[in-house]
Amino acid sequence: MKIVTAAAPPFFENTYLVVCEETREAILIDPGDGIGEIIGQVTSHKSHVTKILLTHAHLDHVSGVATAKRAFNVPVWLHKDDLVLYNAVVNQGRMFGIAIEPQPPIDHFYKPNERLTFGRYVVDVRHTPGHCPGGVCLAVGRADAADDDRELFVGDTLFAGSIGRTDLPGGNLEVLLTAIRRQLLVFPDATIVHSGHGPDTTVGEERASNPFLR
Ligand SMILES: [Zn+2]
Ligand SMILES: [Zn+2]
Repeated sequence: MKIVTAAAPPFFENTYLVVCEETREAILIDPGDGIGEIIGQVTSHKSHVTKILLTHAHLDHVSGVATAKRAFNVPVWLHKDDLVLYNAVVNQGRMFGIAIEPQPPIDHFYKPNERLTFGRYVVDVRHTPGHCPGGVCLAVGRADAADDDRELFVGDTLFAGSIGRTDLPGGNLEVLLTAIRRQLLVFPDATIVHSGHGPDTTVGEERASNPFLR
C-alpha cells in the first residue's frame, strides 16, 4: 500500500491517496484543499482512482470533492447521517468566511459494516459518530491479511494526543469516546492511524498516552 498525503491552508486537512502497489488502483480519502497536489500525484504514481471515500462532511474534508469528481469521474461515498452537513457545505463555508462551490451529489451511502475493495485491498467501514453524526473510520488492509491487520483512516475522530472536537452541531463527547474504544482501540497496538489533521500515530501510542482515553 502506497499512501500519499497532501494538506493545504487554511485548515491543513489531510487528503489521502491510497494506491495498491500491484494493480495501481487507488482510492481518494477526504479530498480537501490539498486536492490539487494529489491530482498531480495520481499521475506520477501511475495510479487510477476508482472511489472517493469521505470520513465525514465537514467542509475541510469535502471542499475538493467537486474538483476530484471532475478529474476522475468516480463515485463518492458518505455516511447518510452526514448528508445534511454535506448539503450545507456552502453555508459551512460562509461561517468561516470562505467561498466554497456546491459539491456534487453523493453516489453511495455506506451500508452497515460495509467492505469495499480496491486492487488487492479491502476497506472496512466503521461508523464512529461523536465528532459528527455520520463520521466513519476506514480500516484498510490486504484482502489476504488478517481482519485486524489494517491501517486506519480516522478523519477527525482521533488525533495524535487528542480527539475530535465535540462542540459542533451533532457532536457528543460520550458517543465519540465510545466509538473510539469500540471501533479503534480494538486494533493491535502497532496499527497505524492516519488522522484528518496532523501526523500519523498508532493505536498503541494513543492507548498509552492520549489524555482523553484514560
Ligand atoms: Zn471534522
Ligand atoms: Zn477536519
